[in-house]
Amino acid sequence: MKVRAMVAHAPGAPLVMEWVDLAPPGPGEVRIEIMASGLCHTDLSQLQGTAAPYPFPVVVGHEGAGVVREIGAGVTSVAVGDHVVPLGIGECGTCGNCRSGLTNLCAVFLGEIASQPSPFSLNGRKVSAYSGVGSLAEHVVVPERNCAVIRKDVPFHLACTIGCSVATGVGAVLHTAHVGTGASVAVFGLGGIGLNVVQGARLAGAGRIIGVDINPARDAQGRRFGMTDFVNGSSGDAVAAIQALTGGGADFAFECVGSTALMRQAFDCTRVGWGCTVVLGVPPDGQTLDLVPFAIQLGRTVKGSFMGNIKGRSQLPALLDHYVAGRLNLDDLVTHRLPMAEVNRGFALMTSGEAVRSVVSFQEERA
Ligand SMILES: [Zn+2]
Ligand SMILES: [Zn+2]
Repeated sequence: MKVRAMVAHAPGAPLVMEWVDLAPPGPGEVRIEIMASGLCHTDLSQLQGTAAPYPFPVVVGHEGAGVVREIGAGVTSVAVGDHVVPLGIGECGTCGNCRSGLTNLCAVFLGEIASQPSPFSLNGRKVSAYSGVGSLAEHVVVPERNCAVIRKDVPFHLACTIGCSVATGVGAVLHTAHVGTGASVAVFGLGGIGLNVVQGARLAGAGRIIGVDINPARDAQGRRFGMTDFVNGSSGDAVAAIQALTGGGADFAFECVGSTALMRQAFDCTRVGWGCTVVLGVPPDGQTLDLVPFAIQLGRTVKGSFMGNIKGRSQLPALLDHYVAGRLNLDDLVTHRLPMAEVNRGFALMTSGEAVRSVVSFQEERA
């Protein structure tokens, strides 16, 4: 079928609306009508070509939510009419990684990093689906294992955020760092990911939650998510400020920007003996992180986390239970809602720092 999708034809080019061909769901696949899709900084890095793993042309968007409209042969765990979040990282449930209980990185997904499957084409030429999703399209087709069935009582423009920003931030706290009650946490970068680290830390019962950002507007925003202290990164030494606030160093530090210089600051502000640094931001392609081995040998660790190490089908949907119970704040996360035609303005709002999360709402547009 033909569907409207926002396509980027080259690095730096604006997204343009195209009628692309969408392959029908094959065996084990599902077609989802996208109702809302959040804009993420990694989409922007792909569009600008700075961290661009997918060849152009590409449909970006990987934080979607929608309704199952069609299922292929053999699909048993997803039904037409289900509300779902399409997943960049599927969960087959049977591979060694899925069964390990240690990681969300399903072996099937690891294979897809190289093959980059996509249901989209234009004039007979493959169009990439960013992160295996490409949710800035009216419909997508994904394998059943890449479908997280969610509760139906959360609006799509909020529910979609669990597909990336909430999963990445809250998941990293709960499933990568395993932050405990009373811990001190430093968060570098208070955008869509960082604010979710903040509220994940609150959910985990952290004591001191210190946010670092160069945008002073993030001070008040961060406090709505549970931040206890704000450090303006553009005035003075953030590492020294965090060491002073924590009496020697933070138990945990999270880098949420994608700056190797900030990763270094995050590491330096963690406590000697047990401090843990979690790397979440995606730096420009080719950058490396330099650390002195002895600084790690002093009991500190650096961990990585992809989509918060949260399993997409079996663990992710429960994040919406936390929202409904009032333990996670999604209402202040989505600061802007835009129709599909204004998606380029949505990325401009991200670049200027005005938006925390902009969500393209397909549903409103059709109503
Ligand atoms: Zn994302
Ligand atoms: Zn698996």
